[in-house]
Order: sequence, then C-alpha cells, then structure tokens
Amino acid sequence: MINSSLNTLSQMLASKQISSVEMTNTFLARIQQYNPSINAYIALDEQKTLAQAQAADAKIAAGNAEPLTGIPFAQKDIFCAKGWKTTCGSKMLANFVAPYDAHVISQFDAVGAVNLGKTNMDEFAMGSSNETSYFGGVKNPWDFDRVPGGSSGGSAAAVAARLCAAATGTDTGGSIRQPASLCGFTGLKPTYGLVSRYGMIAFASSLDQAGPMAKSAEDCALMMNVMAGFDARDSTSLNRPKEDYTRGLSGVTGDQPLKGLRIGLPKEYFAEGLEASVAKVVQEAIAEYRKLGAETVEISLPNSHLSIPVYYVLAPAEASSNLSRYDGVRYGHRAAEYDDLMDMYMKSRAEGFGAEVKRRILIGTYVLSAGYYDAYYLKAQQIRRLIVQDFTEAFKQCDIIMGPTAPSTAFKAGEKADDPVAMYLQDVYTIATNLAGLPGMSIPAGFAPSHLGKPLPVGLQLIGNYFDEARMLDVAHAYQQVSDWHTHMPVGLE
Ligand code: GLN
Repeated sequence: MINSSLNTLSQMLASKQISSVEMTNTFLARIQQYNPSINAYIALDEQKTLAQAQAADAKIAAGNAEPLTGIPFAQKDIFCAKGWKTTCGSKMLANFVAPYDAHVISQFDAVGAVNLGKTNMDEFAMGSSNETSYFGGVKNPWDFDRVPGGSSGGSAAAVAARLCAAATGTDTGGSIRQPASLCGFTGLKPTYGLVSRYGMIAFASSLDQAGPMAKSAEDCALMMNVMAGFDARDSTSLNRPKEDYTRGLSGVTGDQPLKGLRIGLPKEYFAEGLEASVAKVVQEAIAEYRKLGAETVEISLPNSHLSIPVYYVLAPAEASSNLSRYDGVRYGHRAAEYDDLMDMYMKSRAEGFGAEVKRRILIGTYVLSAGYYDAYYLKAQQIRRLIVQDFTEAFKQCDIIMGPTAPSTAFKAGEKADDPVAMYLQDVYTIATNLAGLPGMSIPAGFAPSHLGKPLPVGLQLIGNYFDEARMLDVAHAYQQVSDWHTHMPVGLE
C-alpha cells in the first residue's frame, strides 16, 4: 500500500478495502519507526490526524468522497495550520502555534484529506540541504550519510521513505525540484500565482510558489487540482478558470505518443559544472523521449549564468524586508533579558535567527540601501527581465525545455555546509524559472552509482511555458508509462 498511487489509494478507500483511519495508522506506524532516524517530521499530533481520518471515513460513508478524501499527506512547516506548531524551521518561531490555516492547508482540508504532520525544512526556506534547520538535518532515505536537498528536505524524505502518500513543498529557487532530484520523486513548481501564498510564510514574495511533491506526475496532477485556484487573500493569486490537471494523462497511445513535441535542450545546462554521471542519466532519459516521438532542438539561454547572482541579490532583498516583522513584539522569539526596546529587538533577532538567515538579511539590507540600490537591486531587476526574454525566445523554438534538475546527486551532510557559494550552485538550473515565474518540474530519470555502491537518484527537469502545467504533467506521465524509476524505493525501508 505504501507504494501505491493516489488513484489506487482513493479506489481502496472507495471500495472499503481499507478505511482512512487504517491507512493513516499505517503511515503513522512507519513515521514512528523511521522518523527518529530520518527527522522528516518536526510536528506530529496523532489526535488531530486521526480525527481528520475519522471525519474522512464519515465523508466516504456518506457518499461525498472526492479524489483525495481520506488520503494522508505531509505538509511543509512553512504553511500555517490552525492549532499546529508552525516554525518554518526557525528558533524564531519554535513556539508559534498558527491561529489560522494557509490557503493550501484549507484546500486539502476542504476535500477531506488527512494531515499527518509538519515537515522539516531549511530555516525560512533558505538552503539546499535542510542543514540550516533549527531542528537539525534530515537524512536522505537513499543514503543516510547524505542530505535530502532543500529547502523542502523533510517533505522530500517523507515522500521518498513512504512516510506519507505525498507532500507539499515550496520553491523559491529550486526547493521542490532539487530535493525531488536528490530523493528520486516527482515535484512540480507551478507558474507563479497559480497557488495562493496566503498563510505561507514569506521568504522572497516575487519568487515563492507552492507545489506538489509526490511519486508520479499523475499524483502531482491530482494534488494540483486541489492546490491551484484563485484566492482573493493573495494579491498575486491569478484569477483564472479552474483547470483539471489530469485531463491530458491519457497514457501512451500508439507508437509515438509525443510525436510533434519539440524539446529544447539549453546548451548552457549541459556544460561545465554538471557531474558526468548525472549528465549520462539525463541524456538517456532524453533519448527515451525521442523514442516516444519527440524531437529535440538545441536552444540557448544566454543569460542563465547570471541567474544565481541575480537571485542572490533579489531573494535576500525581499527576505530582509519580509523578515523585519520578527521583532519579538507580537509573536516569535523574544530575548529573556534586555535593557530597552532597541536592545530587545537586537537580542531577539540575534538569538532567533540562524547564520544563513542573518547572512541574507545583511546582503538584502545592503543591496537595498540608498547608496547601493541602483548598483545592485535595480541592476538585478534589469537582468531578471533579460532572463525572462531568454525564455520567451526559447519557447519560439520549442514546446518544453529539458535538462538536469541539479548539477550533482545527493551530497554528504556537512560537505557544503561551510561554503555558501557551493551550496548556492545547487540551484544553477532551477533558479531561472523562478525569476521568470515559469513552471518547472523534476521527474526521476534513473540512478547514478556512488563510490560506496549505493545508487543515488537523478532527476530530469522539465520547464514549460506559463500555465503549461497540464501539458508538462502529460509529458512526464508519458515517460513514467515506459519507465519505472518513480516506483523504486530506498533499500531497507520497504
Ligand atoms: N536553495 C535556494 C536558497 O537557498 C532556494 C531555496 C528555495 O527554493 N526555498 O535560497
């Protein structure tokens, strides 16, 4: 059961083969068994979880079930969930109990899905390894010596270790896709504005976007049906008609189901910096796409080398502003002793934030300061526009872009912890899509051998044009009909 698709779980519930309470208990038992070593969940509340499962069983019995009713999900601890501790991986919010639900949480609640708990993450979603979390690192289920990626590392490990049916994540520069690549599952960052950010703790508001983290494209499509949609409480939420993201999942029909599809391969994504073993797996996946009838064209994203520098001006700038609300006054950590108001602010923030968050606040306030605004912030915004134009040009030549998700497989815990720039480079292929607001996806494409002999997952990235999620999911699904990488489970956790 733990390896079943959301559709199968849904059918099992509908046919009364299993109840939601039983299904939920199966996952809770696995969490009890494995979470002490993996550290994927940082908040669990069995009573709340089982109450939701009971309510779901009643909904199913009454004949009111929807596709995700009764299915247990993990929620990234960046989403406010009423009555749940919501920490964003920070000491600053270590004792914060959310008084309201984020839009994403209420969407899952509304269909009767079950919340298994809140998952670990890099502090305020800043990181690529989950090592900046105040609550400690997360183990990669494929190799406990390695990181799961980040910032959605807890959700990633929970999906890979089958400690949930699927999970939510957020992606500001790669935090859904890079962990999906390092942990071997399917993750989608939607077009900016498709999923409401209401109640999602802000990091860099012009880049943050929530999305599904699941075993397959089909599962992601079912979750998108629940997560996406207009919400007046988020001023950047897009007012578009509801879509059915499963509509194109026809499966492989005929010999060449993707005939006519033009795949763009950016030459900059296959250049220096990409590990050879990752490149090999990605090329093999692309070859598989050719067999499915797609044609490939070389494209260029000439400004892609500027995406990391641009991001590390803009994201810290927005973060420095967003995080100014944590001042110890209304909620969050307050220093126990202080002399006056200014001292209270300074001590509370000095104690409440970790090193990476402080680094970003410093960079952000610097690039926004009167003397440097034009030289850094404004310049970065101008280059952001050029990066958007690169994609506009590219999509004249192709329908979808493919390449690696991350430059390497999962790295060892501690390996990059003292080298911020090496860590930042993890997102070299993912950040540009956030800067452009485009949808991006990572799907399991195979394994690369590691020197210890443990195979490590590799992800293939798909980048689509605005609002092309349904087509991307279909293209991913076609590959998952002829490959089984997305069904593999870490050895020893079966
Ligand atoms: N790794 C990037 C960062 O540290 C992206 C994180 C994210 O997408 N939340 O900012």
